[in-house]
Amino acid sequence: MNALAATSRNFRKAGRILGLDSKLEKSLLIPFREIKVECTIPKDDGSLVSYVGFRVQHDNARGPMKGGIRYHPEVDPDEVNALAQLMTWKTAVADIPYGGAKGGIGCNPKELSNSELERLTRVFTQKIHDLIGIHTDIPAPDMGTNAQTMAWILDEYSKFHGHSPAVVTGKPIDLGGSLGREAATGRGVVFATEALLAESGKSIRDMTFVIQGFGNVGSWAARLIHERGGKVIAVSDITGAVKNANGIDIPELLKHKESTGNLINFNGGDSMDANEILVHECDVLIPCALGGVLNRENAADVKAKFIIEAANHPTDPEADEILSKRGVIILPDIYANAGGVTVSYFEWVQNIQGFMWDEDKVNNELRRYMIRAFHNIKDMCQSHSCDLRMGAFTLGVNRVARATLLRGWEA
Ligand code: NAD
Repeated sequence: MNALAATSRNFRKAGRILGLDSKLEKSLLIPFREIKVECTIPKDDGSLVSYVGFRVQHDNARGPMKGGIRYHPEVDPDEVNALAQLMTWKTAVADIPYGGAKGGIGCNPKELSNSELERLTRVFTQKIHDLIGIHTDIPAPDMGTNAQTMAWILDEYSKFHGHSPAVVTGKPIDLGGSLGREAATGRGVVFATEALLAESGKSIRDMTFVIQGFGNVGSWAARLIHERGGKVIAVSDITGAVKNANGIDIPELLKHKESTGNLINFNGGDSMDANEILVHECDVLIPCALGGVLNRENAADVKAKFIIEAANHPTDPEADEILSKRGVIILPDIYANAGGVTVSYFEWVQNIQGFMWDEDKVNNELRRYMIRAFHNIKDMCQSHSCDLRMGAFTLGVNRVARATLLRGWEA
């Protein structure tokens, strides 16, 4: 099942639990606006090349729409649609005053020079500048884009609208980016895990962890778990996997990765088959890489008692059912990885205030938002006798539905 089908299925299930009116349900599912633009740029050799750019603005009942822009050869409009919808529920779960959006350009950023990427980003911004904005739609980095991409969007947008740092988040600190943004998703994952474990009187130091993916989210989650005394016993990335039953020294692994670019030949552990990582013995499994990695082929073999969905959509619906039947507790993506968009919101707030917060304030506020959302989800689970995924979906959908009804339907 693809991401759009799975998201829409979870939405419909939440709608049934909440008893949503069918007209409202349809209106919440259909995107507010879908934008498709042609972006033609001169390549460095003088030839012309065209790419297609998308922006799906899903819903703005609770505030400006918010979501990443990805550069990837297979940017698929259906997937962008699903991810835009997910952002609507995610921002509502985190209770930040935003709706959801997502966008992308169908290009391979690895095959473009820096100046070609800059030209492409500027042309894309020229085509959509009237449709994004501080109080309309606020892009952020995603796959294949980064703080530099946001700096170009900021600059191009500001040519039309005046200096506007709040039009994008995930910017370089020198242009109004927030302290703590880089670590925010991994840090949010750790706060979410602490909230979940506290329910059964446990803490991170009592647990063993396996982490798939050692990029931004996985490496920050690993570092913060290690700092709190948790044992990270296996880690994998695209280059391979390493295990150590006594706990991997994460700062040493980070140094090894920094100097060699991979996880193999690390002398603080044994290498293992990266395909085995998801079924490795542990208390807590944290997928931080790709979507759909937990599926009907491996769900029955997962040993973890808890799964924290740091990646987007790592568990397909069949695996979800198998794992739930087996009593595995899954903290869903629309909550577990909301730390990134929450600190993006703090960045936007700081830009609008014209006042920069120190990193402790950012981290303390992030903790407060993550813990509050966890308790809000648990309340929904109790009211509707449902699991954490449906607790999160009903929470998010209910907040958006309430805002939509309060704003009214009259044209
Ligand atoms: P990243 O590109 O920094 O890291 C991805 C990691 O996954 C890399 O270590 C890569 O080697 C690894 N990987 C790729 N294919 C793999 C495979 N087959 N097996 C094992 N590892 C593999 O990306 P990121 O920003 O850390 O994002 C990771 C996930 O978290 C994605 O699903 C992303 O959508 C989601 N997410 C990220 C953020 C954020 O703020 N970065 C926010 C919300 C959700």
